[in-house]
Amino acid sequence: MTQNVLVTGGAGYIGSHACKALKAAGYTPVTFDNISTGWEEAVKFGPLAKGDLLDRERLDAVFAQYKPVAVMHFAAFSQVGESMKDPGKYWRNNVIGSLTLIEAAVAAGCLDFVFSSTCATYGDQDGVVLDENSVQLPINSYGASKRAIEDILENFEQSHGLRSVIFRYFNVAGCDPEAEVGEFHQPETHLIPLMLDAIAGKRDALTVFGSDYDTPDGTCIRDYVHVCDLVDAHVLGLKWLSQGKGSRVFNLGTGKGFSVREVVDQSRAVTNMEVPIIEGARRAGDCTKLVSGSERAMVELGWAPDKSDMPTMIADAWRWHQSGHYDR
Ligand code: UDP
Repeated sequence: MTQNVLVTGGAGYIGSHACKALKAAGYTPVTFDNISTGWEEAVKFGPLAKGDLLDRERLDAVFAQYKPVAVMHFAAFSQVGESMKDPGKYWRNNVIGSLTLIEAAVAAGCLDFVFSSTCATYGDQDGVVLDENSVQLPINSYGASKRAIEDILENFEQSHGLRSVIFRYFNVAGCDPEAEVGEFHQPETHLIPLMLDAIAGKRDALTVFGSDYDTPDGTCIRDYVHVCDLVDAHVLGLKWLSQGKGSRVFNLGTGKGFSVREVVDQSRAVTNMEVPIIEGARRAGDCTKLVSGSERAMVELGWAPDKSDMPTMIADAWRWHQSGHYDR
């Protein structure tokens, strides 16, 4: 009998890739998802238990039915811009929803918890390379909501023995090279899929959000990590906890930053097609530069992000984009 892992948000972009990686590692991923931003078609590697994080009774029933050995918690709203317009949505779903999940996990005696956090918890720190000890000063509601959940996890360890591996993601990109699952948000807000839409003529152009940042080419710099590398780290995190090791925070990025313009240039090279561009205004809540110091994950978890070079990420995303799945 394989062990069940409860994967909240398993119908979403990162969660569905995590389910594939968990299955490959010998676990059964049980997706818990309200299908608000995810897609039922993406749940391919284990059962789907539909439910909402705010529904404690439903969570209790799912824990009782599947008896998971651990939780991987991806379900969250994750758009910086939206979080600035509607912070209540982020605090209710992300924070109260996570608290409800954490309380249900503790009540069920499921004390290994892998949490998807974000580099947005660090805020805008004037171009420094951010490591796990960097101060957390989020500048948007999304980052603030994730930092609050990190605090909750720390408190629940002290009181209830819940052990967590917290991953602070930088910018997740790329798709399953076999195109069984991929990235599909509705509405889409992320740079690479929007750019591929513009290349494929599904939208008129890519709007570059701000060309007057204090960076060499004036556009924001981000650290991109391949989704398959990212979810591999989660499987390593799960094993870390199952070996009885203590709670730990890990950044997941490569330490290499790319500006928006550099990503556009690389996409031209990979697809051999033009990217129609509009120079737009800054987007509220955007940090100038977010680049990770990720040595800890490599040294302590043995994480090797070998797919996270920009041409591979764009090529895998482009393959998925052209595969006709969920054609829009
Ligand atoms: N970006 C952009 N145009 C878009 C979407 C994103 O210029 O249509 C920029 C955005 O300002 C940021 C970077 O691309 O500097 C990555 O944004 P994304 O939304 O993909 O991820 P985030 O960094 O917000 O998590």
